[in-house]
Amino acid sequence: MSALLEVHGLSKAYHGVRALDDVSFSVESSQIVGVIGPNGSGKSTMIDCISSFQRADRGTVTLAGQSLIGLPPQKIALAGLMRTFQNVRVYEHLSVMETLLNAMVPFDAANWVDALLRTKRLRTAEADARGRADELIALVGLQRYRDAPSGILSYGQKKLVSLIAALMPRPKLVVLDEPVAGVNPSRIREIEQAIARLRAAGETFLIVEHNTEFIMNLCDAVIVFDQGRKLTEGPPQVVHADPRVLEAYLGVRA
Ligand code: ADP
Ligand code: MG
Repeated sequence: MSALLEVHGLSKAYHGVRALDDVSFSVESSQIVGVIGPNGSGKSTMIDCISSFQRADRGTVTLAGQSLIGLPPQKIALAGLMRTFQNVRVYEHLSVMETLLNAMVPFDAANWVDALLRTKRLRTAEADARGRADELIALVGLQRYRDAPSGILSYGQKKLVSLIAALMPRPKLVVLDEPVAGVNPSRIREIEQAIARLRAAGETFLIVEHNTEFIMNLCDAVIVFDQGRKLTEGPPQVVHADPRVLEAYLGVRA
């Protein structure tokens, strides 16, 4: 049985600089896999290559057995892979509920005839989406803000909204690019707990993050990148105790 996400030999160079060099790893369903590594170690390039924001030079990526290489970004989402971005922007005037419903627009099977006639199919899809949104809002503890304009939320809460917006179409895997970067340290724990609850509800995450403590607390497995290569991987405790990891981060011999 192969894993949900399988990445093999992924490589990418920018003008001769090897940003990603022969990287392989996998993510099992209902797991949280974390990727850490110093700045410039290729973490964002890896996300960009598996989500088709960049074209990999070499390598294979499959999600539930389907190849993602070469698919346009829209098809990547339909295949079941959603991603978030490090720098979050929300529609300030839309409520949290409206933001989540808006996230479903690209996935709506309903066409303009449905819209014009307000068909049963359209009403059912809308009711489903509202139910899904309410469930996600409750899981991350944002019930109080359900109908409030997203503009009043803290940056950390906005990050949570963009995270659950990515979950709206029920993707097989969500890739998070630095979910706590820029978040007030006092709120990082809230995001950690929210993601833990979403995992308990069956969601699968690949998380790239600079905050190693956050990754160690949350993840089932941790992968360490260094200079575009996979330095090591394993359970958080094992990776944490590995002197090569400290060396990569500090650039010194431990
Ligand atoms: P990380 O996310 O781990 O900080 P990146 O994937 O952003 O690392 O960067 C890996 C390497 O690739 C770095 O040397 C970086 O300067 C280079 N790089 C990243 N994106 C580009 C780009 N669009 N053009 C040229 N070089 C890039
Ligand atoms: Mg990055």
